[in-house]
Amino acid sequence: MIPFADLHCHSIFSDGTATPREIALLAKEKGFKGVTLTDHDSIEGALLLQPIAEELGLSFLMGVEFSSSFRGESVHILGYSFDPTAPSIHNLCERHITRRKVRIEKMLAKLKELGIEIDPQLLQERARGTIGRPHIAHLLIEKGVVPSIQEAFYQYLGEGKKAYVEEESPTTEETLLALHQAGGLAILAHPHLIKPKSLLRKLYTLSFDGIETWYGSFPKHRTLSFLQVAKEKKWITTGGSDYHGTTKPHVLYGSSFTNEENFIRLQRRS
Ligand code: AMP
Ligand code: ZN
Ligand code: FE
Ligand code: FE
Repeated sequence: MIPFADLHCHSIFSDGTATPREIALLAKEKGFKGVTLTDHDSIEGALLLQPIAEELGLSFLMGVEFSSSFRGESVHILGYSFDPTAPSIHNLCERHITRRKVRIEKMLAKLKELGIEIDPQLLQERARGTIGRPHIAHLLIEKGVVPSIQEAFYQYLGEGKKAYVEEESPTTEETLLALHQAGGLAILAHPHLIKPKSLLRKLYTLSFDGIETWYGSFPKHRTLSFLQVAKEKKWITTGGSDYHGTTKPHVLYGSSFTNEENFIRLQRRS
């Protein structure tokens, strides 16, 4: 398969550490022909990337990664080629800004009870777009509370850990509807991480347009069942690294990618 674009990456407009321009330069460096940005619950970075991509001669794809809730479990949805000015996208992003703000406040309160003070102002300054747990993790490192992001999640921020607060996202069905209302396509993100398998089978019955078959450094044999599902449902198969810069230093840009055919299907919304 000839690599065309890395369809899953994050910038400083969510919890990544690269600017949109740096993402475009990484795409050029890798020899990719296309580029997108899929920040968590935000399209700000993708909007900035568009003219940069054109300037560098890269084919641009509008993108986002929405958090959603399906039967109590967190499910990520990659959205592409939607109209960024559509009210449904605006409303969804606004809901995420509010729910993230409330969740972060609750987590900071929990940390305070544990004797760890994080300045909400400083946190807000660090988060250029959507605010998330990795922003707290970076500050916990700076304060010398933990030595690494991994440790911050292991001790405090991971599910069920000391400062964890449940995520309350819009449902998966609502998110699919919002993307479709905006003329976009919805791809089930990193199915490799979804457990149990029965939940995944239920997700397959929803109105996704594709499945992220190649993800990060997962081996080839892990793609087989997803390729089978895509074939049955005539879904688009995509691939992406989930690059986050130094938030996830082991994840390299371009470690998974999409070919030209699927990139064009996404662009043409078919
Ligand atoms: P949030 O959206 O605030 O719930 O934060 C979720 C993000 O935190 C994910 O998209 C990852 O980028 C990051 N994350 C989750 N678990 C870990 C972990 N164990 N180590 C590093 N980053 C993590
Ligand atoms: Zn992330
Ligand atoms: Fe994700
Ligand atoms: Fe991601």
